[in-house]
Amino acid sequence: MAVTLAEAVAQASKRLAAAGIDDPRRDARLLACRLLGAGPELLLGQPDKELSAAEAERIEAAVARRAAREPVSRILGEREFWSLSFALNAETLDPRPDSETLVEAVLAALPERAAPLRLLDLGTGTGCLLLALLSELPRASGTGIDVSAAAVAQAAANAARLGLGERARFLEHSWDDGLALEGAPWDVIASNPPYIASGEIAGLAPEVAGYDPAAALDGGPDGLDAYRSLIPAAAAVLAPGGLLALEIGRGQAEDVEGLLTAAGLTPLRRAADLAGIERCLLAVGPGGA
Ligand code: GLN
Repeated sequence: MAVTLAEAVAQASKRLAAAGIDDPRRDARLLACRLLGAGPELLLGQPDKELSAAEAERIEAAVARRAAREPVSRILGEREFWSLSFALNAETLDPRPDSETLVEAVLAALPERAAPLRLLDLGTGTGCLLLALLSELPRASGTGIDVSAAAVAQAAANAARLGLGERARFLEHSWDDGLALEGAPWDVIASNPPYIASGEIAGLAPEVAGYDPAAALDGGPDGLDAYRSLIPAAAAVLAPGGLLALEIGRGQAEDVEGLLTAAGLTPLRRAADLAGIERCLLAVGPGGA
């Protein structure tokens, strides 16, 4: 006899609970409904909907992945960030609500949102920081770089999907090779670099340690390696009075501000995420007002 949607969700949530998943019913409902091409409200509207064998199998396979701690966003292949949908892959970080702090802080610091600003995003991943900013800055254009070709391709696809392809460009490039790219000097440089200390990665949630790409997490022995190379490279190509916005990890604000000052930039503000953790630093280049 065919299984109903409600039965499939009940079964799935039992399995996820046994696997120690935080909110098993939420994930079960989301996976089942989304794999049926609907939103989670489908369960309320049509709990007795009978599933085909193929549908039931697809849901089971997804639930097995979630039980192995793969995040729902990776199983479904997409994540919402700044109310926009981003596709992700194995070589991109899963966009986090924490990183919306940076988008908000940059927007709040810009005197004129309609200006033709030039933006650069370092280690762009899915492109979420650059594309969220472009979605709010109608005349801005930007470049996102990443050392991963798969990330660059994903970001470009996201730009096209979001209708931002004409104002966004993505390049396979390392900040170690300089940032005097076409478009420089930059009015805004943003980055969410790897900032977890190498020795702490194994202790992160299995969803992070097992599925986010190591290259997007690992900031070296003290977590600050990326800032050491990225900040001087960015300082060299910031427009006069331009803005550098960096996501940082817990407790890193002071050390990173030290690196900003040493590179000739002036720390402007720290912004906290919803958990109250200082998550983003803003600094201005020389020649600003
Ligand atoms: N925000 C991620 C985490 O703490 C880390 C991302 C990064 O290193 N940039 O899980």
